[in-house]
Amino acid sequence: MPSQPSPKVLMLLTSDFVRSRYEALRARAPELRVATEIEGASDPDVTALFAFKLPAGIAPRLPNLRLAASVGAGADGILSAPDLPPGVRVTRAVEPGLGFSMAQFVGLQILRHFRSLPQMERQHAASEWKRLAVPDASQVTVGIMGLGAIGSVVADALVALGFRVIAWTRTARQARVPLYVGEPQKDAFLAQSNYLVCLLPFTPETRGSLDGASLRKLPQGSYVINVARGGIVVEDDLLSLIDGGHLAGASLDVFATEPLPADSPFWRHERVLVTPHVAAQPTVGPVVDQFLENLRRLASGQPLLNEVDRSVGY
Ligand code: NAP
Repeated sequence: MPSQPSPKVLMLLTSDFVRSRYEALRARAPELRVATEIEGASDPDVTALFAFKLPAGIAPRLPNLRLAASVGAGADGILSAPDLPPGVRVTRAVEPGLGFSMAQFVGLQILRHFRSLPQMERQHAASEWKRLAVPDASQVTVGIMGLGAIGSVVADALVALGFRVIAWTRTARQARVPLYVGEPQKDAFLAQSNYLVCLLPFTPETRGSLDGASLRKLPQGSYVINVARGGIVVEDDLLSLIDGGHLAGASLDVFATEPLPADSPFWRHERVLVTPHVAAQPTVGPVVDQFLENLRRLASGQPLLNEVDRSVGY
């Protein structure tokens, strides 16, 4: 029997982030055929894509594409391609370190605000000895939108820091923190969240879902942390609720347009902290290993690791 040709992978080197995964893939699987661009009008040899963003016009040129794997935790950059054929399976990167990095980052944002770090830094700069009251975390509720692979690690870490933690998900299930489910329980969830942490995937349902009407449901003086995707929050609505005094401020790591344009009012807002999409990144080695394992599973007809349900978008 003739042996099957080895799979050929296409990687789209859209950023340094993807390039480092490309280099790791080359080092870990030197025998694997990896292309970084399509030669000619189409490439029937390519069976798998490994990318963060999939521009329109690529998938239709790969008639034998079976797998589109995201190098990141979100698969939205792949699912947003308008011409990805329905039969192509989509996976995303999941690894334990990602949850810990995110918990560190979210904890940093909450504690910075909760323990008044900017004020302490101002006092230090002014050589001012002024003792601040120590707030009681047990009286403060952190609401986490999305209790998935990352959100659940973040929730555990914040519980360990003494906060009351609640979460909001799409489907009901067992959880270690009180869970609010779906649209019917969204308002009750928001009404309690002194800190709102967005860890939802970017899907047709979550796009623009944190708009003015939702953000107004938060208690007066709440603080918003978006570490998911910029398009989930309606940025103008967030800004006017901060300016109007309903919200105390926001830490934003993700934006509708990235890099955040130089003229964005967020850059100059004293109650907003902008970070350049650095909250957490999947470690290169495990992500590349997961992809190689999925190539093997694809070839042998086994279930794929971390497959995305294309019908719901995550
Ligand atoms: P995940 O495991 O897929 O979990 C997603 C969670 O969101 C689940 O709990 C899910 O509910 C919930 N959810 C989805 N759609 C919903 C809806 N319409 N209403 C209510 N809840 C909904 O995702 P993850 O691995 O934790 O990652 C979350 C996101 O973090 C990623 O998609 C990515 O955008 C972002 N991220 C950002 C960075 C960064 O550096 N800023 C780094 C890594 C990841 P169910 O439990 O009911 O399914």
